[in-house]
Amino acid sequence: MSARLRDDCFALPPGVDWTPVDDALARLREGLTCVTGVESAPLARASGRVLAEDVRALRDNPPAANSAIDGYAFAWEALGQIVEDEANLPLQTGRAAAGHPFKGTVPPGHALRILTGAELPQGTDTVVLQEDARVGAGRVRFQPPRKSGANSRGRGEDARAGEVVLSAGRRIAPEDLARLASVGVGEVPVRKPLRVAVLSTGDELVQAGKAPTPGSIYDANRPMLYALIAQFGHETVDLGAQQDRAGTIRAALDRGAEDADAILTTGGASAGDEDHISRLLRNEGTVTTWRIAVKPGRPLALGLWNGVPVFGLPGNPVAAFVCALMFARPALAVMAGQAWPEPLGVTVPAAFSKAKKPGRREYLRARLTPDGRAEVFHSEGSGLIGGLSWSDGLVELPDGALDVKPGTPVRYLPYAALR
Ligand code: AMP
Ligand code: MG
Repeated sequence: MSARLRDDCFALPPGVDWTPVDDALARLREGLTCVTGVESAPLARASGRVLAEDVRALRDNPPAANSAIDGYAFAWEALGQIVEDEANLPLQTGRAAAGHPFKGTVPPGHALRILTGAELPQGTDTVVLQEDARVGAGRVRFQPPRKSGANSRGRGEDARAGEVVLSAGRRIAPEDLARLASVGVGEVPVRKPLRVAVLSTGDELVQAGKAPTPGSIYDANRPMLYALIAQFGHETVDLGAQQDRAGTIRAALDRGAEDADAILTTGGASAGDEDHISRLLRNEGTVTTWRIAVKPGRPLALGLWNGVPVFGLPGNPVAAFVCALMFARPALAVMAGQAWPEPLGVTVPAAFSKAKKPGRREYLRARLTPDGRAEVFHSEGSGLIGGLSWSDGLVELPDGALDVKPGTPVRYLPYAALR
C-alpha cells in the first residue's frame, strides 16, 4: 500500500504507510452497502429501527383547520365591514370542542364559543383568545386581531396527504412515532436488525467476576463493545474471548461470518508474533486497510472474512472505544440501512495546551467545562480506561501539526451524539 498523504505536514517516519483517517472513512463509505432485509413493524416496536422506505402521510395533519386556543371563532373578512376598533358580535348558540365539531354554520358577523383543538366551524376562519374577550348579554366584545387566521391552525399545515414525512434510512426516534401516528401511519417498513459479532482476543484475558490467573487482565472490551453495538441499534452475537491461536481465532471468525453481518474483534491487530487477527485477515481473508493514521488506535485492520466485514480494533480499550465510534459506528450504520452518519462536532475553545505533532489524527478524552470550553484528561496514556468514564466526549485534533493553547478553537464530539 502506498502512502496516501496529501500534505507536506504529514511527515511520517520513512517506510511507514499509514492511511489517513479520511481515506479510511471514504473507503468504508464507498465500499459498504446495506445488507439487511425488510420487515414490517407496528409503531409500538418501531423506535430505534431503520426505515426501509420513504413513508408518506395517509392524510393531512391537521385534517381540518382548528383552533389553537380557547376563545371565540368568527369570520375575519366580515369583521372589517362592521367594526372600527372593537368588535361586538352576537354569540351563536352552541360551541365547538375537540372531537365535537359544531354542526351548523356561523353566519358572517357572528361568533361561536370554541375550545382548543376544535375544528373551525363552517363560516369561521379566525379565533380570539377568551382572555382578550368580554362576554355578556349574548354578545362577545374584543379588539379584532390584525389578520385573518389568527389563533387557528390550517388544514395540512403540518403535513399534506401523500407527502414524504420520513425518509428511508432514518433511524426512528420517539418523536418520529408522533409524526407517523399524526398522519395515520400505524405500521412501517423497517430494516431487519444488523447482527454484529464481538470477539476479544488475547491469552491474557479473563472475564470480570472470574478468578484471575497469573499474568491475566480482565476483558474490558467485550462488555463495552456489546453495549455500544446495542446503543447503535444492532443485534449482538457473542464470539467470546479467544486465546491467541490461529486455529481458535479462525474458528471464531468462521462462526462470526456465519451468524453475523459484521465482526468486531479486539486485540491482535498489529504485526507482532501473537497478532493473529491481522495475519489471518492478510493470509486468508482480505485486508482493505490497516494501520490508520489515528491516535489512539493505530493498529486497526479493516478486512473481509468469508465476505463479512471485520473491524480489527486495537486491544487497548481506549483505542478500541475510539475506533469503534469513529470507524465501526458509521460503517455499521450504512450496513444497517442508515445514511452515513457524520459525527456531530461543535467548535469550542480549548481549556488545555498541547503541541500536536503532524502525521496522525488524534482523539483526546475530553469534557466540557461549565463555561463551554473543552478540558482534556490529565494523561493521554491509552491504558487509562478511567479517562473514558471521566470524559463525555472527544476532542478531535486534525492530521497536521497544531499548537493548541487555552482559547484555541477545537472540535469537540460529544459521546451522546455518537450513540
Ligand atoms: P494487542 O492489540 O493484542 O497487542 O493488545 C494491546 C493491549 O491491549 C495489550 O496491553 C492487551 O493486554 C490489551 N488488551 C487486549 N485486549 C483487551 C481486552 N479485551 N480488555 C482489556 N485489555 C485488552
Ligand atoms: Mg494481544
